[in-house]
Order: sequence, then structure tokens, then C-alpha cells
Amino acid sequence: MAGKLLVVGFGPGSFEHMTERARTAISESDVVIGYSTYVDLVRDLIGEKAVVRTGMTEEVSRAQEAVRQAEAGKTVAVISSGDSGVYGMAGLVYEVLVEQGWRREGGVEVEIVPGISAINSTASLLGAPVMHDACTISLSDHLTPWTLIAKRVEAAAAADFVIALYNPRSGRRTRQIVETQRILLQYRHPDTPVGIVKSAYRDREDITITTLANMLDHDIGMLTTVLIGNSSTFVYDGLMITPRGYQRKYTLGAEVQPLRPHERLRSEAEPWALAQSEAQPWSGAGQAPSGGAAGAAVAVAPAPSVPEQVLPDAVSLAMEALYCVQRSRGEASEMDLFMAGIPGAVTAAREPEPAPLFELAVSPGLAIKRFTAVQMMSLAELVGEEGEMEYTPHHQLLLRIPTWEPERVTARLRAEGFLLSPIGDVVTMKACDFCNLEKAESVPYAERLQEHIGGLKVPKELKIGFNGCGMACYNAVNEDIGIVFRRQKFDLFLGGKTVGRNAHAAQPVAEGVEPEDLVATVERIVKQYAQQGHPNERFHKYFARVKTLEGYTHQEVPVFKIENAICGD
Ligand code: SAH
Repeated sequence: MAGKLLVVGFGPGSFEHMTERARTAISESDVVIGYSTYVDLVRDLIGEKAVVRTGMTEEVSRAQEAVRQAEAGKTVAVISSGDSGVYGMAGLVYEVLVEQGWRREGGVEVEIVPGISAINSTASLLGAPVMHDACTISLSDHLTPWTLIAKRVEAAAAADFVIALYNPRSGRRTRQIVETQRILLQYRHPDTPVGIVKSAYRDREDITITTLANMLDHDIGMLTTVLIGNSSTFVYDGLMITPRGYQRKYTLGAEVQPLRPHERLRSEAEPWALAQSEAQPWSGAGQAPSGGAAGAAVAVAPAPSVPEQVLPDAVSLAMEALYCVQRSRGEASEMDLFMAGIPGAVTAAREPEPAPLFELAVSPGLAIKRFTAVQMMSLAELVGEEGEMEYTPHHQLLLRIPTWEPERVTARLRAEGFLLSPIGDVVTMKACDFCNLEKAESVPYAERLQEHIGGLKVPKELKIGFNGCGMACYNAVNEDIGIVFRRQKFDLFLGGKTVGRNAHAAQPVAEGVEPEDLVATVERIVKQYAQQGHPNERFHKYFARVKTLEGYTHQEVPVFKIENAICGD
């Protein structure tokens, strides 16, 4: 009589977080096989059954013993913490079977019983850190070469995954977590939230929320899972929360940018998710824009799919749940519910999906500051009633146009002679009007810079002021980088702090830069910042941190003494 192999994940360790099937599977079995600590965790369920306890490193012999006993006709439960298919025993049991030429048909029966894995149990204690694309990486190089683990850490870091680090550290393996932090810091801001959970749902449970920079100051061991947030994860009232989505806007340039916490849950920011007061005409699936025009590619958020069945969306459901709780506590009235549109949001069919917003900035040209009447009319027509046009402090008009066809918009704008730029954390050139092009000798250099680095993605928005004479009346020296053409050569200024109460001009670092050197020098500086700046690090901070850029040394800005305000005389 053939026996049965039950490979059981019993979850984090507490009885109530074990599935019903995990419990019955253990009760049904004649023999329970597992690592000693785990056998102790489920001892109450085992009763008088035969138990085979093994040490941590004896996984292969554990699997072989299980197969042997099952083939002898026993029902055997092999137990793993969490999920048995996540760094657990399930794969190993199959490997032993495969080695023996086992077949599903006629061989011992195998049932894998799923359990709550550490990524989920630890996440629930931290808040909601695994709301978006996430991955697990085991830092144990016991069975996997470290070079491969490091490659995976780097790939996950670069792709902005939330990362759950299993087996982060043991008595002997202490370097891996240090090296992992080093790799992560190349891609994520030092302030990225990090959750450290030891023994989730077990006796010695310990929960810490810290940052990527400080994570190593805390206790991390074999019973710990470390959860690294993505670039949008934030901490609120001791909870680590990853927003559900990224902004579904698209702009010229490469990235879809995450929303900041305070920007979320506004209908203009998440038009696909929240009930819309006015429906946009649905233009069909699969028409989301793709590809791009020369210069700057058109970046596209994932194409929204047409819901087959109209379901209430997740945000409406979450709001409804919140109101139900508030009502049961007497904190929300019927009126609040009505005002929040809850009954309608949940029961009514969802409006057709509105077109995503296409955002970009336009100007009449690098040096040209005048719009023609035809250009103004085209803008009005393209933006229409549904879109928006905003006048920015950076010589640009910001356009927000709901459309499924951004290429049509860009083609039309280019045909009208506009200069198009992506918005967000990109390089923007701000040139003067070169005295109505009377002093135009340096214009080609501004154009070359625009061509080479205009729209380049950088850690934080970067403005390059470019002025055609020493008057610098378009305030080039007050930008992140200032370039002033004077006596047939260029003066270069680096690291202006362009906003804030302690704003200051950029530091003059060079006078008389030869025209043939200018573009390459500035390009190298900007590309270095693009590659090595921390996420969200402004250029002036980057300059202060690295201290020298292309041989130019950073100098501290003088601190002014502030006198007390004098009353009367
Ligand atoms: N099969 C298990 C993982 C086994 S690998 C699962 O799916 O969860 C062992 C690692 O899992 C530990 O080093 C730790 O990183 C993590 N882990 C397992 N149980 C945990 C718990 N209760 N609390 C925190 N981390 C846990």
C-alpha cells in the first residue's frame, strides 16, 4: 500500500495563522518530520505521533527519510515554516523523488499544503509594505553563489521592487547583509523605509521600522525578515506603507513617476481609480500610446485593461470599509457617506475608463520667447476643455491633455515649431532671448546642450541657465548650473540653491572656458550627477557631497548673521 507525502507550510508559527488544511494534514499523518524548532512549534498538534527531528542543515536527509517512510506505506507530514514552497521542503522532496524516477501516476501521492510565507506575515505586522511588485531574495549563499545573489539584489533594486530579504544573517554569515545594503544604496535613497521583523507571530516577536541608511544598527538574525520599501514607500504613524500604484500619467521622457503620499487619492491624480464626476469617452482597449518621437521618447504607463465585468474598484471598497467602521463607532453620519459618494461608488457600474493625462512642457524655442497667434490657437485647440495649460516659472507652458494618442499631440506641436520637453526630474535648459537674437553667437552651444542633455532623467529636476552676455539678465547664475557667455568664452557656475529661504546663487567655478570645451564639460558633470546622485538629491547637495566635479571644488556658502528684529529705534 503506497503512503502519502504531505509537505506542510505551517505559516509564521502561531496556531491561528496556520491553515485548516495544515492542521488536518498534520493530524492525518502517521509520522511528522521536521527541523527541531518547527516540530516544537506545532507540538500540540502532533500528540503521540512518531516524530523525526533533524538539524537545520540536514534537509536532504530529511527529505530522503520522508520519501522512504511514505514508500513504506506511511502518511508522512514534512513540515516547513511559512510556505513549504518558499525556501522550504517542497522542492527538495520533489527533487529526491525525481532522482528515484518517481511518476505522479503510480508513485506515492504528494500534497503540498500552502502556508503564509514570511513576506506576508512580516508585512502585516509592519503595515502594508508589499502593496506593489515585490520579490523575495534569500541572502544565504549556502546553496547559491554570492555573485548570483548580488546580481539579483542589484536587479531588484534597479527595478524598484519591494524586497523581502530572507535568511539575512547568521552567526557565520555576516557580510551578506552589509554588502546588500551597499548595493541597495546605489539605487535607493538612504531614507527608504526598511522594516525588520524578528519571529513574526512567535513568542519573541520584535518589529522595527528604520531606514536603508540605518538598517544595520538593528538586530538582524536568522529569525528575521528584512523588508526594503520601494521608492514610494512611506512611514505613517509607525506603519510602513507602499502606495498601490504609480501615477498613471505619461510624459515625454523615460519614467512613470510615483505619486507622493499627499498626491494620492485625488481624482485628478488617479483618474482610473476614483469615481469621476464627468465621464470621458472611452476610446477602446489596446490604444494606449507607445513608441516615441525623436529626441525624447514618449513614456507610457501600462495600458489600462478594459474591465470585462464592472467591479467596484479597490479604493471605493476601502473607503466604504472605513466608513462602515466609522459609522459603527458613531464617527461618520449618513451624510458623510452620501458626501463621499459611497453608495454610488460601490453599487453603480463604473464609468468608462478616462483617457490618461499626457503631460509635457512647451516653449516657442530655446531663445525665442514670443508665441505666434497660430501657436496660441493650436495650443487652445489641443488642450481643449478637458485639459489644462499652466504657466511655469521656467519659460514654459505646462500642458496636461487627456489623450490616448500622445504622438498625435507631439507631432502637431512640433509642426507648429514648439520646443517640447518632458516634465519632472529631468534636465531643462533655460536660455535668455540673446537680446532678440542680436547677440546670438553662443546660441549653437545652448542648442547643443539641449540636444545632448535636455530632458535627461536626473535624481531631481535640474535647470541649466544659459545667458548670452555678462548682463545675465535671465538670471543664469541663480540656477542649478549657470552658463554665461562673455568675451567669446564661457563662465561656469555650479550648485545654485534655487528654492527655499536660504536660496543662493550658484558658485562661480570657472571663467573663460573655451567654447569647444563647454558642452562636453557640462555634459560630463550632468551625466555624473544623473548616475551617482541619490534619488531626490538636488544638484547643489550632490556637489556638496562629492566635493569636486570635473576638477571644480565645492565651497561652502557663507552663513549670514541674522540680527534680531529691532522695535522702534
Ligand atoms: N518557508 C519559509 C522560509 C524559510 S527560510 C517561509 O515561507 O516563510 C527561513 C527564513 O524565513 C528566515 O531566515 C527568515 O528570514 C524567514 N522567516 C520565517 N519565519 C519567520 C518569522 N516567523 N518571522 C520572521 N521571519 C521569518
